[in-house]
Amino acid sequence: MKTEAVVLKGWKLGETSKILSLCTSDFGKVKVVAKGGLALKSRFMGCLEPMTRIRIIYYDKKTRDLQLLSQAAVLDSHIRIIGDFTRSTLGLAQVELVERVLVQDEPFPKMYELLCRALSGLDSGNGFLEGHFWYFESRFIDIMGYKPTWNNCLSCRKSLGKEGGFFQPGNGGLLCPACGSRQGGLNVGSETLEILYWLQCCDPAEVGRLVPTAGQKAEIRRMFDLYFRTHIEGMKPLKSLGLFYGMESP
Ligand SMILES: [Zn+2]
Repeated sequence: MKTEAVVLKGWKLGETSKILSLCTSDFGKVKVVAKGGLALKSRFMGCLEPMTRIRIIYYDKKTRDLQLLSQAAVLDSHIRIIGDFTRSTLGLAQVELVERVLVQDEPFPKMYELLCRALSGLDSGNGFLEGHFWYFESRFIDIMGYKPTWNNCLSCRKSLGKEGGFFQPGNGGLLCPACGSRQGGLNVGSETLEILYWLQCCDPAEVGRLVPTAGQKAEIRRMFDLYFRTHIEGMKPLKSLGLFYGMESP
């Protein structure tokens, strides 16, 4: 089988081999073993690290879970991500999230495209880097099929004004202050909602220009976290994102 892929995760196998979990462009999640991949002068050199985009040929046997990698070539190693702690923790959080939801051998080309686009954005972008992760989260929710409505009340349909609203992750949107005061939800400011609304339709090259306040940042992080925990079964905090947040605290 011939396809393109992004490396999501790797495990050592024996002394010199490595198992890779891949997000492929054509076949969804595929697990392969790169025999001798860790040996010096390996033909898989440079292809085994998470976030690397590669072109591969592998032998596919439907009867087994683990396929045999035959050839691999680097398409993009995302040099700037690898060399930078902020970029790499955010990039790793992206692949971690994809690894959690992708199903083995179930094609999901949109997820592959999004991951490639989001990693390139993080690699080439500047400014507010977390914006690239937000962009990824926003589009991820969209292609997973639970795109939220940020601009109208779920109950009375009234447009959400400058008072903000009450976030209801299970229902995929917000309630206006009047409905929310009766039914509850997480109170969110209107400027935070504007950012989230913008993320659903913005050009990824623009996200670095965001300048959120500390309060907006906290609200957006909390909302995505709540949303994922509500919609993804068994969702636990992303380890790489924890490292990224840890770097910020004094
Ligand atoms: Zn309402």
